[in-house]
Amino acid sequence: MLGHLVPFHYCRDHTGELPCRKILDCWHERFAVHEYLRGIYSEEEIARIVSPPRPKLLQIIEIARKARGHEG
Ligand code: SF4
Repeated sequence: MLGHLVPFHYCRDHTGELPCRKILDCWHERFAVHEYLRGIYSEEEIARIVSPPRPKLLQIIEIARKARGHEG
């Protein structure tokens, strides 16, 4: 995504929570990255890692709904 080479730890520690969602695409030719992830994360977590991001508008609507729920 940055347009240049990065070390694996950058991709693994991407957000401080989960690895970058493209980690399988970018690293599968270098080593068994899926096996590596399976040693750390559950299949559900891996599915969450590689799933496309939700549209920003949906995120905003969810935040607004939660905020409204706290008011009343
Ligand atoms: S896994 Fe993500 S952060 Fe790492 S090289 Fe690929 S796109 Fe960039």
